[in-house]
This record gives sequence, structure tokens and C-alpha cells, in this order.
Amino acid sequence: MKKVELIFVPAPAMGHLASTVEFAKRLICRDHRIRVIILSMKWFPSASLNAYIDSLTALQPDGIQLIELPQVALPSLDPKKSLESFLDVFVQCYIPPVRNAVRDIVSMRCSLGETRVAGLVLDLFCSPMIDIATGFGLPSYLYFPTNAATFGLMGYLPTRHTPESSEFECSDPEHLIPGFVNPVPTCVLPSAVFCKDGGYTTYVKVAERFKDAKGIIINTFEELEPYALNCFSNGQNPPVYPVGPVINLNGLSYSDSDDRVMKWLDDQPQSSVVFLCFGSMGSFKSPQVKETALGLEQSGFRFLWSLCVQPPQNDASKMLPEGFLERVQGRGMTCSWAPQLKVLAHKAIGGFISHCGWNSILESLWFGVPIVTWPLYAEQQFNAFKMVKELGLAVEMRLNYRKDSDEVVMADEIEKAVGMVIDGGSEVRKKVEDMGEMARKSVMEGGTSFNSIGKLIEDIIGNN
Ligand code: UDP
Repeated sequence: MKKVELIFVPAPAMGHLASTVEFAKRLICRDHRIRVIILSMKWFPSASLNAYIDSLTALQPDGIQLIELPQVALPSLDPKKSLESFLDVFVQCYIPPVRNAVRDIVSMRCSLGETRVAGLVLDLFCSPMIDIATGFGLPSYLYFPTNAATFGLMGYLPTRHTPESSEFECSDPEHLIPGFVNPVPTCVLPSAVFCKDGGYTTYVKVAERFKDAKGIIINTFEELEPYALNCFSNGQNPPVYPVGPVINLNGLSYSDSDDRVMKWLDDQPQSSVVFLCFGSMGSFKSPQVKETALGLEQSGFRFLWSLCVQPPQNDASKMLPEGFLERVQGRGMTCSWAPQLKVLAHKAIGGFISHCGWNSILESLWFGVPIVTWPLYAEQQFNAFKMVKELGLAVEMRLNYRKDSDEVVMADEIEKAVGMVIDGGSEVRKKVEDMGEMARKSVMEGGTSFNSIGKLIEDIIGNN
């Protein structure tokens, strides 16, 4: 039987790239006819992203070929403009090299004859590249490393958009967003939709192309977002394939401190430690670092704190209150990059104060660890709202905190939050544990996501 090849174009951000690669591995593992080529676009230098790409190049997972595209000349990043507007320019600049790479691959496969290119799998932010696939007579699938709620929100944007009704204002009334049971307060919407410097227009532009995809692949599972997924199966959207949780169970780790952290956890009692970790870009300025330290100290509970500071070149330990580390010695520990997967899997962890990045949410559900919400930027407020208000699967500390505001979450609030998840929170904990079990079942043979991947493969192979 002929091999079938898919060309993946992930967005060059850690959460997107790692999730995409993991999904590619699942496809290959499931059906040995499938091969994947990943076209890697070059973003700004990032130590963790580079290390990840290097590890992929070194490991060369079976059935996956990574092609690094040439660096294109990009306009410089204007600090006054949003990151999303830059992402739009970035994707446009990469259209010619992606098209060239697809042309080369298609013509080489045609001449060899034993493999057929079956389509492109594009990150949701690369939806303008659907035209490349169309140019070669190929279908495009969009991969959402985030959830069905985000698909609902983004799909809602072009339907709401008029010249009079464009960027959102915090004072706007709540929104009825497809896939949500409750009206959604404007203040929890992703930062980009408020942005008058291109963020909003990028989102609308990207979302306008969703209807042109042959399928929407989402890193969620039916048991977690049944209402939203049901809403999208009304025939007005391309077929939606929930394939998650797609998690790299080997974890992502680049730090020498892993052993130190894991040994310390081994010595702590069951469910006694609160873990604080804020994703690949979550960092705090000095006043917030001090308040957090105070809150943890006052709480008297055990903690493991992945502490990243702003500006990054500053010494994190110097930002802590004087004598803090000595006073909490034995019951508290700080580290920089944490081996989050391994930490969440450890029996000593009783709760997780999280920025609510989607990967972190899925990982904590998988291991049945309840989250306390402390969103910082991007779509994290939206995720926090979904988890607390829609699903009742997280404990609310903040829903609409934003990192770029000068607001400081005070020590008392942090102390209370730690108590809620370690001492209280038993009802949420039970729900989270049950959801974790459903998550694991969904990817096992006969599970909902397992079946959904099967349908996707049928569709991909059927295209040939
Ligand atoms: N992560 C980690 N250690 C850290 C911070 C993050 O291992 O100290 C991992 C985490 O397990 C998750 C990913 O990095 O897989 C973060 O993804 P998420 O979507 O939660 O947040 P983002 O980085 O996109 O804001």
C-alpha cells in the first residue's frame, strides 16, 4: 500500500510546535502508512524553542522529517504594535518559502511514485496558507493546540465584525459565543481582540479562512467540552475532530535542576505541595514576586515555585524578600524551568497555581491535580473562565488579571488561594480526578478521541 504524506506547518511558538509534533507522532503510530514532514519557520531566537528543535533534529522520530525553512527578511518587531499583528506579517512572509517547499515535495513524490502527499496540516494561525494547498489541489486541515472554546470564539469574530463593530472594549456587554452555555464577559476575552494595532484584525483574518479547511483538529476531548463540540457539529463548520489530550508524556525539560526538584518532592507528604508555574513566558516584576513570596510564607503550606522574573537578566533570588529562602527552607522550593509533567505526576502535589495555558490545563487534568487560576496574557483569561464558570473544574483566584497591567495580587489573596486548593477544594478535586480518568480513556482504544483520530485518518486517506 502507498505511503501517505502530510505536510505540517506549525506556528513557531513552543506550545504550538510541541503539541503539533506530538499529534504527528500519534497519527504515525496509529497508521503506519502515514508520514509527516514538518516545515519549521524561523521565529526570533528562543533558547527553549531552539533546544526543542535541536532535540527533534537529533532524535528524528520515526516517520517525521523536519525541514528547516530559510530565514526570511522580516520587518523589525515594532514594540508599539501587537505580537499578533507581527504574526500576520510573519505568516505572509513565509508563504513563498512554504509554497516552494510544498512544490519540491509534491514533485519529488510524483517522480518517485511510492508516496502521495495527502494534504497540509496548518496551525490555526497559518490559515492564510490554505491557498498554497489549494494551488496544488490538496486539502488543508487546521490544527488547534488549544480548545473548542477558542474555535467558537474565533469563529464568532467574523460574524460580529462590521466597520462599526470591530475591536472590543472592556466596557462592552457580555457576549453569546457559540459553544458557551453562559454569556461570556468581555473582560475575559483574549488580549488580541482589544488590540487596535493589528491584533484584532489578525484574529478576524485568520478566522475568516476556517470555513475553507477540510477539517478542524482540536486538542480537546468530547467528555471535556461536550457542549461546544456538539454545537459545531451542525453542518455549518468543517468537520471537527477532537483528538486530545495530546500531551508529551515524556515532558519538556531543559534544566539541570530537575533532579533536585524531584528528590525534594519525594520527601514531601502526599498531596501537600502547591505547585506554581506560569508557562513558557510567564514572568513577574519585583513587587509581584515579593507579594507572592509573602503569601506563600504566610500560608504555612509546602510549595514548589517555578520563578521567572522580569527583566529576565535579573537574579530571581535577589527579588525575593530578605531571608525568605532561609525561613521557608524545607517546606518551600524555587526553581526556574520546572519539569512540569513529572511534577504534576508526583503524588506530593496537591494543587497547581497556573496561568491557564491550555497545555498546562490538559496536563493537570490528566494527573487529576486541581488548578487555581492566575491567567496572565493571550487567551489564558478565556481558558480560566471556561474552567471555572463553564466546567467547574478549577478554583477561582483571578479570571481577568493581565500581566501588562500594574495590578499586584496581594499576599492575602495568594495565601487564601493556596489554602483553598490544598486544604479545601475536595469537590473540585473529585471532579478533576474523574475528568482525568475520562481523559486517559478517551485516547485509549475505543475511546472518543481514539475514534475521532480514526475518522480523521479515514478522511485523509479517502482523499487519495
Ligand atoms: N513547561 C514546563 N516547565 C515550565 C514551564 C512550562 O515543563 O517551567 C511546559 C508545560 O508542561 C507545558 C508547556 O511548557 O507543556 C507550556 O504550555 P502552556 O500551553 O501551558 O503555556 P504557554 O507556554 O503556551 O503559555
